[in-house]
Amino acid sequence: MASISVVKYNFNIMQMEEEFKQLIAWSRVGFNHLPWRLGRTPYSTLVSELMLQQTTVATVIKHYPNFLKKYPTIHALAGASAEEILIAWKGLGYYRRARLLHQAAKDFVKHFAGNIPEEFEELVAIAGIGDYTASALRSIGHNLPALAIDANVARVLSRYQSGVLNPTINRKLRETLQNFYHHSLAVLSPRALNESLMDLGRTLCTANKKLCTECPLGKNCRAKPLANDFPARKPSQVKYNLHLIRVLVMRGKEILTVKRCKGQWLEGQRELPSFVVLSEDKKLKQYPKWPGRNDYKKWESFPTTITKYKIKNFIFRCTWKEYQHLFAKSAPEFEWVDLMAESSNLSTASLKVARTHARHHEEDVGADCWGGCATDTYIRD
Ligand code: SF4
Repeated sequence: MASISVVKYNFNIMQMEEEFKQLIAWSRVGFNHLPWRLGRTPYSTLVSELMLQQTTVATVIKHYPNFLKKYPTIHALAGASAEEILIAWKGLGYYRRARLLHQAAKDFVKHFAGNIPEEFEELVAIAGIGDYTASALRSIGHNLPALAIDANVARVLSRYQSGVLNPTINRKLRETLQNFYHHSLAVLSPRALNESLMDLGRTLCTANKKLCTECPLGKNCRAKPLANDFPARKPSQVKYNLHLIRVLVMRGKEILTVKRCKGQWLEGQRELPSFVVLSEDKKLKQYPKWPGRNDYKKWESFPTTITKYKIKNFIFRCTWKEYQHLFAKSAPEFEWVDLMAESSNLSTASLKVARTHARHHEEDVGADCWGGCATDTYIRD
């Protein structure tokens, strides 16, 4: 098992900190334009850190500015409804983070008058704030001597310090690194050091490559002489095949939807009434069984994935009257949603169905339908 050894570490601390200064300068030139680095506050750090967990920088760049514009303060975020937050989170995926962010904002308002405290223990006492996020709020949000050690930072420092290409990232490693860099954190800006290590791990020193000749830490890095000998990537998670029927019922510009309940995927979002017709996962409980015809494989379909499921979505169109006759007993409570409304909280798959239908509808009956049929401008993930 790869581990790092502080004992073996024999750098000159001053020399190392000089290299860190160069690293910070490199990061400032290349990455200070990132929107969450402009006008940093603890609140904006809370938002950006939650967005950046499990989502790429490129995607967060697209969504962070609008989210902050909509919720410029923690009070604004705490005062919004859960549904509004989910809508504003659209495009970022992993909606559980949006719910955690909302709950954390409410707790900070309730217990700290909307301030985000500096103490680690107070931060981790808030629901949804773990060790990593608490460290990020201290280091990046408050610029206090702490390191938020994500996989990128752990990898860079393990390579630099101990020549370990692929460290096992766990609590012990994080504690070791936190303690070891205490001095550097006291003399450099913790925020700038943390951000620059993240930038390096995301760009030049990734899990699958190391571009040492371009690296600001290249002079003394212990991993620099090592071959680019990276383990084969783990096979992606096994996926279950799942066939779903998405029932499309229109009423003027409205679409029939159901709300996903607590504990289900897409909790709090709306979907088209959906039924399972084939599932390799026999334990799946998310959707009722399809009670209709079984010639569905001939119908129009499109693929999506969610968690461990590879989904084929088959579209079944019917009228409201037919729906009531065929499915009302087996589908949960429904709501009509106006597709023209910007605030429609529809899942991505449901929007795809609506988009496909709108396009076909447009082709069938001409451009007078759908208020000019500007579907691509109002249906967004
Ligand atoms: S010198 Fe190479 S291995 Fe070391 S930190 Fe830079 S990119 Fe990573």
